[in-house]
Amino acid sequence: MRDKYDVLIVGAGLSGLYAAYNLDSRINALVVCKRDLRLCNSNLAQGGVAAVLDTVNDSFDLHIEDTMIAGGRENRLESVEVLIKEGPDDVRKMIDLGAEFDKVDGHIHATLEGGHCRRRIVHHRDTTGEELMRTVIAATRNLPNVDIEENTSLAFLDEANNGYYASLLKDGKLHTVAASYVVIATGGIGRVYKYTTNSSIATGDGIAIAASLGARIENLSYIQFHPTGFAGDNCRERFLISEAVRGEGAYLVNCHRERFMHRYDERLELAPRDVVSRGIILESRRTGSDRFYLDITHRTPEFIKDRFPMIHERCLLEGIDITKELIPVFPTHHYLMGGINVDLNSRTRINRLYAVGECAHTGVHGKNRLASNSLLEALVFGRRAAEDINRCYNDTSVFGKVPEHSVDGAPMPTGTRTSIRNIMQKCHFVLPNPEAARKYRPEVEEIAVRLNNKRFQITNDYLEARSLANIASIVLKEVLHK
Ligand SMILES: Cc1cc2nc3c(=O)[nH]c(=O)nc-3n(C[C@H](O)[C@H](O)[C@H](O)COP(=O)(O)OP(=O)(O)OC[C@H]3O[C@@H](n4cnc5c(N)ncnc54)[C@H](O)[C@@H]3O)c2cc1C
Repeated sequence: MRDKYDVLIVGAGLSGLYAAYNLDSRINALVVCKRDLRLCNSNLAQGGVAAVLDTVNDSFDLHIEDTMIAGGRENRLESVEVLIKEGPDDVRKMIDLGAEFDKVDGHIHATLEGGHCRRRIVHHRDTTGEELMRTVIAATRNLPNVDIEENTSLAFLDEANNGYYASLLKDGKLHTVAASYVVIATGGIGRVYKYTTNSSIATGDGIAIAASLGARIENLSYIQFHPTGFAGDNCRERFLISEAVRGEGAYLVNCHRERFMHRYDERLELAPRDVVSRGIILESRRTGSDRFYLDITHRTPEFIKDRFPMIHERCLLEGIDITKELIPVFPTHHYLMGGINVDLNSRTRINRLYAVGECAHTGVHGKNRLASNSLLEALVFGRRAAEDINRCYNDTSVFGKVPEHSVDGAPMPTGTRTSIRNIMQKCHFVLPNPEAARKYRPEVEEIAVRLNNKRFQITNDYLEARSLANIASIVLKEVLHK
């Protein structure tokens, strides 16, 4: 790691690495990620990428319309058009770089997901994210103009003249790096909740830091909850039991082993994610129990193992054989629609600061994301940030005084993150609860003020708690004022 780079990219998921890949070779970049490269939401993506590759049976207009319907027409139309018209070329680029998508009779197999009127989801078995990450890591790892540092967390970002000083925590020490441009690609905020499908890195660090610099944060309370996270008694991680399990006929039952979705929507188990999640919460209030299950035991064991190898194996590890037993499930946080507000070139309103991927608010998702549009967004707007920097690049940065940050300070009190997560579960989980938000917001704000202002020892735990407190505070403010 050097002292100065043209571009610092904070985050090495799909959006950050694809941005790095698209920078001109004359521009040097440092990409940092806070754990190892594979620990990110991109690596967890199962279903696939939505893209119109077949223009005979599908069209850009149809994909645009599906996206607008899912988003309740709160989407920014010009961003949606860019996403959908440019996305197929980025998917083809990933194929050129070596990404393998499943094929049938020599043609890429496109599958259907909820909300799409055509088969346009290309996928690699049920591990598409892993395949895209394998491809983009291989493409960037040996680029002479790109350095990648793992286990390196952005702790502070200070504006300099036409550039930034980043204080990066690595091996318990802070390293200061100057950069003319910064791209925030830090992913989602799932870990602000107790129950989430997100990777442990998803603590909203980049959003909190961008907010502290004055970037506009929009729609942070627009959160997609998934109805069926695995909810075993001894399992803290709520991994995803994909929609496809219901698609293949699984019934959703309550604590009395009775199907109940007829009370909430005529589409039953196949209603959209938000409707099923709401149905479960309302049913839990009716029955006074949080116990819900998916039942797919009426399909043959051979079918289940062949169609859902990963889910079958993962549940076995938790002691549940889904060919014979019910799968315990409950709604869980899944995806953030809002984030750092950016324009079509991924620029924030702050000079030389960009945001891409799940942490950015491009406006493509509106109120609710259409399934499999987010990997596409990471590619299209990651590339666009790089292209904008390629166009505008000039190294006029005159770096002023180096900011002084020290790792020394008081140890952070234990239990801070748990308190925030419990509050978020009460205030804004599936059904927003403004009364609880009003009651608990002062507590969250007090934690945020303390973590922002008092001098604590700079550790990853502290940095993540600080982010979670700031994120929770913005979400609750929005819940009360929207
Ligand atoms: C279980 C699951 C299944 C999904 N399935 C699909 C799907 O089928 N199709 C689809 O389109 N979308 C899917 N999504 C959503 C999609 O995977 C994500 O929206 C997308 O991959 C986000 O990419 P990203 O680059 O923005 O963030 P991520 O891939 O999460 O990367 C974030 C990066 O930021 C780094 N970072 C964070 N904070 C710091 C810091 N302070 N300092 C340094 N580095 C930091 C992390 O280490 C990481 O490298 C799924 C998500 C989940 C959780």
